[in-house]
Amino acid sequence: MPQASASALVLSAMPLNEQDKLVCLLTSNHGLLKAVAPGAAKIKNRFGSLLELFTNGDFFYYWHEEKELATLSKGEIKESFFTVVSAAQNIFYFYLIAEIVLKFIPPNQNDDRIYKLLLAILHARKNNLAMDWLLLYFLVWFLRSEGLLFNPGRCANCSITDLNRGWVRSDYRGLLCSNCKTNERLTLNREELEYIKWTQHHHPRDITPWIGRFLPAPMIRMLIGKVEYHGEFSLQSNRYLPEFR
Ligand SMILES: [Zn+2]
Repeated sequence: MPQASASALVLSAMPLNEQDKLVCLLTSNHGLLKAVAPGAAKIKNRFGSLLELFTNGDFFYYWHEEKELATLSKGEIKESFFTVVSAAQNIFYFYLIAEIVLKFIPPNQNDDRIYKLLLAILHARKNNLAMDWLLLYFLVWFLRSEGLLFNPGRCANCSITDLNRGWVRSDYRGLLCSNCKTNERLTLNREELEYIKWTQHHHPRDITPWIGRFLPAPMIRMLIGKVEYHGEFSLQSNRYLPEFR
């Protein structure tokens, strides 16, 4: 079987049987990789803490064209985020982020933007930036990367620009102005619209000026609804977040 290697983030590692784990990795340049980690379910194993959620590592594996699962042979930790990710106040946010990527990104997607986005979010959290703001930043950029983010500065119906308030279309594809809205329930105010524009040119580490200018929870709920709508699935991890209680 051919051998390959990839830089990747661990998105999940579940026991497959008494011996082995099934591991899902987001590679830096070819999307999701599913692999069996032989022996990883045993207490003493060669992988150690390599397979913790969101560990960034170099992974070596065997693959076969006719098999869905690769086989991990070894790996090295490049950077561990275990302390940050496993902290009680963060863990459910990171479960949710991993769940979104796992359910949405197809295998072999040649795109490094989500990988880089996740690394930026992880580093920003290591530097104590607020978790809810980082989730919001992630959601905006995730949708933008997938070509699903609406234009925050233009009505999707009449094309008027410079909205003071935007009503989210019920199919989540675009915003409507006050003249074009009908019975849409979800809205974004001027600050929220400005924030979406701001993310286009700013790194998550720059987020501090926004904290306190609006509450992130309503936009988080709206964007999670948008992810579920476009992905045609229901997310499970969000129910544990304060924003959804
Ligand atoms: Zn309009």
